[in-house]
Amino acid sequence: MTRDGTTIHVAANVSDGADAAVAVEHGADLAGLIRTEFLFLSRETAPTVAQQETAYRALAERLGGRRAVFRTLDVGGDKPLPYVDVPVEANPFLGLRGIRLALARPDLLLHQLVAICRVAADFPVSVMFPMVGHVDELLAARAVLDDAAAVDGHALPDGLEVGVVVEVPAAALKAESLVPHVDFFSIGTNDLTQYTLAVERGNDALTATADPLDPAVLRLVDHVCRAAAGQAKVAVCGEAASDTAAVPLFVGLGVDELSVTPFAVPLVKQAVRDLDHADCRTLARAALDLATAAEVRALTS
Ligand code: PEP
Ligand code: MG
Repeated sequence: MTRDGTTIHVAANVSDGADAAVAVEHGADLAGLIRTEFLFLSRETAPTVAQQETAYRALAERLGGRRAVFRTLDVGGDKPLPYVDVPVEANPFLGLRGIRLALARPDLLLHQLVAICRVAADFPVSVMFPMVGHVDELLAARAVLDDAAAVDGHALPDGLEVGVVVEVPAAALKAESLVPHVDFFSIGTNDLTQYTLAVERGNDALTATADPLDPAVLRLVDHVCRAAAGQAKVAVCGEAASDTAAVPLFVGLGVDELSVTPFAVPLVKQAVRDLDHADCRTLARAALDLATAAEVRALTS
């Protein structure tokens, strides 16, 4: 809670069951991003529904009643899977990945969502779709989710929340069109920065020009928060969520949740406790008018 009483949930980004245990030990309020790729990489065939259900259930159990936010499979040409035929692409980061690949292979998505729905019947669970750039993609993914629930003859499990990972600038700019169809947005600042600034995230030579505190990225975060206000929750799950220079800005823009690497949870909780929400709002508004990330960092430090 901030000094003036605004609650900000501090969540953990989790890549497997062991991470979930570390998240709990470090005081995470929930697992705000579960990267389900851990089950799909390094194997010759896709995991079955039963294997997925077992793994997701074990992970949810380790969270001891805290919410588990499962991101559906986010792979593509940059992380090929032997059992998914993706053509060689010149620009895999702009290619058949995330929700695009899932919709091209709806059997994979359906099986994953059946497993998630089964776990959601017994635990607090959310599901979110990566790399959404179009409303149609979200609607198609939601239709597969309905089909997944229907496999067991049910409506969507009570308490299952549905969200979008906002990491394509188009999704941020169209947040008003997405919001009627979601319970929450989770802003992936790693990819959102990459795509907004046209800087590949793995390119070390360009790291200095890919600051998520660039005003262009902050304006997109602001846009999402305004579109979501009163209708959907907003989380930040990219690495910027654990940058203590960024925390007051996100809080000031209206973000409700920060999801960070498990070991960073105590640091981020303490950073939140030291903030005044009204001051953060003033700071964030000022940051939006600046020209460079360096100016933003000078303002917040
Ligand atoms: C992001 O893009 O910010 C994100 C959290 O997802 P990933 O790092 O797995 O792409
Ligand atoms: Mg991403």
